[in-house]
Amino acid sequence: MRIFVAGFQHETNTFAPSKADWAAFERGSSYPAFSRGTAMLDLIGPSSLPMAGFLAEARARGWTPVPSVWAGATPSAPVTEDAFERISAALLQDLHAAGRVDAVFLDLHGAAVAEHLDDAEGELLARVRAVVGPTLPLVATLDLHANLSERMLALADAFAVYRTYPHVDMVQAGQRAAGMLARRLAPGAPRWHTRHRRLPFLLPLNTQCTLMAPATEVMQRLAELQAAHGVELELAMGFPAADIADCGPVVFGHGADAQAVQQAVDALHDEVVARRAEWALHWLAPREAVREALRLAEGATQPVVIADTQDNPGAGGDSNTTGLLHALLAEGAGRRFPGRVALGLLFDPDAAQAACAAGVGAQLSLSLGRSVAAYDGTPTDAPVQAEVTVMATSDGIVPLHGPMTAGGTARLGPCARVDVQGVQVLLASAKAQMLDLDLCRFLGVEPVKMAIIVVKSSVHFRAAFAPVAAHILVAKAPGPMAADPADLPWTRLPADRARRP
Ligand SMILES: [Zn+2]
Repeated sequence: MRIFVAGFQHETNTFAPSKADWAAFERGSSYPAFSRGTAMLDLIGPSSLPMAGFLAEARARGWTPVPSVWAGATPSAPVTEDAFERISAALLQDLHAAGRVDAVFLDLHGAAVAEHLDDAEGELLARVRAVVGPTLPLVATLDLHANLSERMLALADAFAVYRTYPHVDMVQAGQRAAGMLARRLAPGAPRWHTRHRRLPFLLPLNTQCTLMAPATEVMQRLAELQAAHGVELELAMGFPAADIADCGPVVFGHGADAQAVQQAVDALHDEVVARRAEWALHWLAPREAVREALRLAEGATQPVVIADTQDNPGAGGDSNTTGLLHALLAEGAGRRFPGRVALGLLFDPDAAQAACAAGVGAQLSLSLGRSVAAYDGTPTDAPVQAEVTVMATSDGIVPLHGPMTAGGTARLGPCARVDVQGVQVLLASAKAQMLDLDLCRFLGVEPVKMAIIVVKSSVHFRAAFAPVAAHILVAKAPGPMAADPADLPWTRLPADRARRP
């Protein structure tokens, strides 16, 4: 069996400030850099991405992967037309050159929007189908945050969606996709039916976390229903910051028995809807969050973690807003716990490089962070002007060992830790979500010993930080990523979803 394999990953926040251009895919940043052919296999094979799981399973089954492109860029505003068309052209060129293949596997996100295409994956699938025809087996993996379209559902035989957030099961999703493909390829395999239902509301990112109710129970129910009905059952929770008609959660399933698929889909749909009130988000204003953290940190032996969710670089933020830094300073957090309050990673190449140039021990005057446009167009808080002491510097090459990142290496450029009135600010020259304890430790901050840590993340940080945290709070400081989807100025959601409470 020759299986054509390719990957395209982008999570698009149409309200975010900066687009994903070709350079963003060449860099990759939170994903491996753009690669093609056997170089792609070498790069992705050892990763924690779905493609790695699929490739391992494919080899175990004696299949031969025919590698094309890997293209992934950090979440942001839409993919530029130029970048999408380059990626698509390379993939289609490889597909034409591949000759006869027995199947196609695509490692997709499912929430990509391009400048010229609301449904980027749907378009890519249609172009692939135009080459391979309507019947060649085609399976793909999707991120839990996929904004799935009916067009996508019609074009693929099956999708395997991640079932965890933080996403610690990407490899397993790839393996599951390979299992589905194997069943699809088996001689005499019956035709598969796909059934789906859209949920009538959007789910905030923070409450999609599968480490907590209600998502934990919903995912358990999904597994029970899948087993009981003998079907493949999936829940794409959606990425709730894309102003497109297909934004939002979708329950879907595949199987030989269309009625069984429909029953399982209906049951899971009803379960999510019945828990409607439980998906509501509870957050704190920045100073409220810091005051609460100071109270909880008294006598705690583990840190209180505050998620600066609206500046999450994994959802379209630039990781440079200052609302929580202002709040920490205003509440005197660094004076209360000197050296034991940390915030990171703050993306500020100018400040990071100035601190590195000055060297450890230097005192200098710095401007920290930026004022950017929040999702509603208003400016976020002003930069923090402060006298700082440089505590540590780094070249920003950080081997990662966390539950989501093990085996990877962050490349953040010049980085520094500066002390601002007792608060340790971790400065980086590249954007990276705080999803690994190593991203504190490389600048000499031991998370376990902190009283308060502010992380630029919505949910992914929990994989590494929940085991060491006494408490976790979610703060809503002005930023580009709306924690509450209801805050966004939607214009294109279908009325049945947009107008409901
Ligand atoms: Zn995701």
